Amino acid sequence: MVEYKNVHKSFGDVEVLKGLNLEIYPGEKVALIGPSGSGKTTIIRMLMTLEQPTSGEIIFDGKNLWHMEKKGKLVPANEKHLREVRGDIGMVFQHFNLFPHMTILQNCMTAPIHVKKESKETARKRSIEMLEKVGLGDKLDNYPSQLSGGQKQRVAMARALVMRPKIMLFDEVTSALDPELVGEVLEVIRDIAKEGEMAMVLVTHEMDFALDVADRVIFLDNGVVAEQGTPSEVLEESHNERLQQFLHRFR
Ligand code: ATP
Repeated sequence: MVEYKNVHKSFGDVEVLKGLNLEIYPGEKVALIGPSGSGKTTIIRMLMTLEQPTSGEIIFDGKNLWHMEKKGKLVPANEKHLREVRGDIGMVFQHFNLFPHMTILQNCMTAPIHVKKESKETARKRSIEMLEKVGLGDKLDNYPSQLSGGQKQRVAMARALVMRPKIMLFDEVTSALDPELVGEVLEVIRDIAKEGEMAMVLVTHEMDFALDVADRVIFLDNGVVAEQGTPSEVLEESHNERLQQFLHRFR
């Protein structure tokens, strides 16, 4: 479903990704772990086409997102395809990125109406269903400023889910939350994961959560995939020294 082939990414003189090879299968739940600055956010931003690789290929649903220009630079392959791809990918950020001047129902309805061209009634009905699913059915007319961080993050999830993405990307969605609010957000992700059909990429520092929810854990280090396998293979059984050093901080 998603394939990164020999992807390099530099910011100025700093090469963050040094030939990344990574495949994500339909319905798979992948946890991406690694030291700060190892490029986890960059990997998911490139899939969302918010960031451009320096070289290499990123393939989504059989189509390359970028192609090489004559001058040797990668450029977006096809604007129409990129729009479709963005519609198939849901992303939830560390900082909720809700529209502050809209109610939470309006926050959820906007993209289905403007991007998917759904009718207002359909978008409204499905948005309410999603907000109920994340436990916010009684807050439809509230504004983001009236909600707790955990509630805002659940709105962000409902807003992404209402687009019926093929894959959801979660970028450290609990790291800006007060500790007592983390559980409610992880619970919603766990519920979504159990439903099964959607692929998920979780950038997380919650190792117990990764162990519980992920099918596969990928450890990024020094610009490449340094270790990968089932959660217990990576988090409990691996002898990779850099991984051990990294995990040590969470014990
Ligand atoms: P963290 O766990 O701290 O969020 P990460 O693994 O997600 O880190 P990235 O956010 O992908 O890492 O960043 C990788 C490196 O690239 C970092 O050194 C960062 O400073 C650098 N970087 C990321 N985005 C940019 C940018 N737009 N301009 C310059 N440097 C950037």
